[in-house]
Amino acid sequence: MENSIASHLLRLFRLFIIFILPGGLVLLATFLAIHYSTLTPWLDRIEEIVPYIILGIGLLLGWRFHRSRLALVILVLFLSERSLYYFGAGGSFSFGHDYSVFLANCILLPINIALFYLVKERGIFNLRGIARITFILLQPFTVFLLLQLEPTIFQYLSYKFILHPALESLPLPQLVVFIYGLITLVFLAGSLFGKGGPIVRGFFWTLVATMLGLLAKNNGDSSTLYYCAAGLILVMSVIESVYAMAFQDELTNLPARRALNTSLHGLGRRYAIAMLDIDFFKKFNDKFGHDVGDQVLCMVASHLLRVGGGGKPFRFGGEEFTILFPGKSREDAIPHLERLRESIENAEFALRGKNRPKKPPSNRKKSGGQPKTVSVTISIGVAEPVQGRTKPSSVMKAADQALYRAKNRGRNCIAT
Ligand code: GH3
Ligand code: MG
Ligand code: MG
Repeated sequence: MENSIASHLLRLFRLFIIFILPGGLVLLATFLAIHYSTLTPWLDRIEEIVPYIILGIGLLLGWRFHRSRLALVILVLFLSERSLYYFGAGGSFSFGHDYSVFLANCILLPINIALFYLVKERGIFNLRGIARITFILLQPFTVFLLLQLEPTIFQYLSYKFILHPALESLPLPQLVVFIYGLITLVFLAGSLFGKGGPIVRGFFWTLVATMLGLLAKNNGDSSTLYYCAAGLILVMSVIESVYAMAFQDELTNLPARRALNTSLHGLGRRYAIAMLDIDFFKKFNDKFGHDVGDQVLCMVASHLLRVGGGGKPFRFGGEEFTILFPGKSREDAIPHLERLRESIENAEFALRGKNRPKKPPSNRKKSGGQPKTVSVTISIGVAEPVQGRTKPSSVMKAADQALYRAKNRGRNCIAT
């Protein structure tokens, strides 16, 4: 019981760290740099140069890594920041519409960020990409034109919809707080509960960073550093997502072979390695189809994630998995593996047909019979370092040989 509370806390802590890194950290560093550093003499230079550098990095990465959305949002950030810097309060091209420029940015920025999160990845150097870039570039021109035609038009954005003393102290106009807040909250929910991974977290922290930038601008300070942080966060989230692609298995979401190779280097002197293989999986695929096979792989992976004893599961390849037990002996690992083997043997995997309803029916009997279920078994070979065989690669080989013995012994068992 205590153990499970501790493991839940550890999981929560891990999720928190994943959520905070790197976006929250970059933002914190930016905040500290602005408020507690002796950056001020350099600030002018930073404001002149760094936005262009980040734009360059963003466009280059977006192009090379096929992340057009990164490139587009970086362009949006760049235009927003430069418009505030040159045409906003205190800007060298300020033309008497400082607050309107500010308000237009407050509304257009979060909407653009949300929009470009939602659109599909379509590349930059094609018709769609050019249309998207045009859509972005047209916005500052439209704002400029509107200001010429109707100079007070953006002032409506600061209209007070609700007259209440509590809302008097809002740092930004009500509409801005509402739209920015709503979009940011949606991305926060996505970061915490969704499957968007590093990208959705990156977008969330980017929104927070730009919001801080706009607040700073509203207070008469510079927003450039916050915008730079926003761009940097996006760039880092893309690097993270590319890393995840290389080190994570797409189907099961388990760490992949590459991650295993990295983890093997970090093992101490004492550890155990288990190799697992689904029994007769070829037959299973032949009988139920490759899609059902894929679903079973995912469900086996979810059992592997729950293995005890500090075991770290990986998808070795195909229907083969590896579990590392750092700091554990072979004998320590066996009971956990035995429990895992049993749990998979006893699990009944419900088949998900193409027309299976998303929600389970409230009354099974009414909707006609039990769902079809299938089950699989696994064979396991486990080994530990012994004298003359201390290298992780040799231990893995020994575990593989043990697996072979488990297969010969009739499968659905553990061999050493
Ligand atoms: P054994 O009990 O000896 O392990 O028999 P087996 O049929 O499981 O062994 P074998 O290694 O010959 O077959 C593995 C099969 O796993 C072959 C392939 O069709 C299937 N497989 C490998 N990767 C995937 C995958 O990503 N999805 C699905 N559905 N099947 C896969
Ligand atoms: Mg196999
Ligand atoms: Mg197999």
